[in-house]
Amino acid sequence: MTLIQSINPWTGEVIKEFLPTGPKEIEEKLQLSQETFKSWKKTPISDRSKLLKAAGEILRNNKNHFARLISLEMGKVIRESRAEVEKCAWACDFYAEEGEIFLSEEHISLSDGKKAKLIHQPLGTILAVMPWNFPFWQVFRFAAPTLMAGNTGILKHASNVPQCALAIESVFQEAGFPAGVFQSFLIDSTQTLKLLEDNRIKAVSLTGSEKAGAAVASASGKNIKKSLLELGGSDPFIVLADADIEKAAETAVKARMVNFGQSCIAGKRFIIEESVYDRFLEIFKEKISQLKCGDPMNEDSDYACMARPDLAAELYVQVQKSAALGAKILKGGHKPEDGIAKFQPTILTDIPVNSPAFSEELFGPVASVFKVKSAQEAIQIANSTEFGLGASIWTTDLKRGELLASEIESGAVFLNAMVASQPALPFGGIKKSGFGRELGRQGILEFVNTKTVYLG
Ligand code: NAP
Repeated sequence: MTLIQSINPWTGEVIKEFLPTGPKEIEEKLQLSQETFKSWKKTPISDRSKLLKAAGEILRNNKNHFARLISLEMGKVIRESRAEVEKCAWACDFYAEEGEIFLSEEHISLSDGKKAKLIHQPLGTILAVMPWNFPFWQVFRFAAPTLMAGNTGILKHASNVPQCALAIESVFQEAGFPAGVFQSFLIDSTQTLKLLEDNRIKAVSLTGSEKAGAAVASASGKNIKKSLLELGGSDPFIVLADADIEKAAETAVKARMVNFGQSCIAGKRFIIEESVYDRFLEIFKEKISQLKCGDPMNEDSDYACMARPDLAAELYVQVQKSAALGAKILKGGHKPEDGIAKFQPTILTDIPVNSPAFSEELFGPVASVFKVKSAQEAIQIANSTEFGLGASIWTTDLKRGELLASEIESGAVFLNAMVASQPALPFGGIKKSGFGRELGRQGILEFVNTKTVYLG
């Protein structure tokens, strides 16, 4: 039997090993989930809200403990891990406070004088297949609205973050949620797909790669179950000639380097109007060079390492292929040592159209910088990938910014700011970045049956 390992990517040390969840335990947990749903859906929403508030408090009270787990398992610097835990507590508070309003009945007056109403009812057990990059946030972004709506949840977390998966389960238990409301399964992809054949699973939410999304959406489609997909992105970060260049370049560094580049909504393609290109690049390169690499547990480290050595190796191949096709390496680009998750921040310019840096997602600290002649050319390059998650546009002319925002093919556009998620704003993509929305009112309505009741 293959054990699930928790490995510190900074040191390569195996911290803990776990037995996968066995068939008998899976069966018991599925049964518990289904049984619990029967009472959980009838639990007054004010009680569900109190429990969610309690979960938020547990997160805040144990912030350092959970942050350490995140940094240990996936290598993010401890400051960012703490911020991630706080953000999860924010999502719990948000849905505890707003959930009841979002789920309230809607009334419709019909042309014949009759009335109807819409009621939003939970679906049952929802499966969450989640990635390692924000191992707490991605799960709470799913769980806070989904449980508040009266569903039960089962988490299949990424295999490299089993301690986070179990810690999240413990948050809900300690908060006082009934045992079957939220459970973690330590299972592999094959078992995940099999779960979708089980009638007790009513729908699935997946955050991850295109490949995983296609596999899970196919399996859920085959079983006529709803799926929500939050997949990859190659977000454009457009800087026009009239922008505040200093601020744009400084924010661009954050947008690319947050989570050491391993974020779906990281700015990945920096598309700069030619008259400000040199100045932008100068500040961008300078600020990236000033960032300090160090142990993820050190308070003053700006970045540490990627989450796994294979991810560093894959990213290097994309950089090499792009360089072989003509991209210039302005900074970094060195081969990571075999079996080591460390990677040097890298800047590429003169990106050829057929290269990985142009068309693929670079899921790590590699920035692709493009020079364009006009705003229209910027939009054309921005839209020329298969992804459509977020986009950032920098201009001091807000009216023009709004017009350009409407031309971008993405689920979100941020003007004069980097793309970032927050509980009140619906989040999700189009094209190969997925479908459906998390967060906001839209997020809590994804896993409910919106039932029409005609009042004859
Ligand atoms: P991943 O390899 O696709 O894994 C994501 C989850 O899917 C993991 O739990 C993984 O389990 C599971 N999985 C993988 N292949 C599967 C399959 N064939 N069938 C069923 N489950 C499968 O992605 P990742 O490397 O963890 O995350 C990086 C990707 O996620 C990037 O593309 C990133 O842009 C995207 N992402 C998107 C968002 C968003 O909100 N749009 C947010 C964060 C990340 P195992 O670990 O056991 O393989």
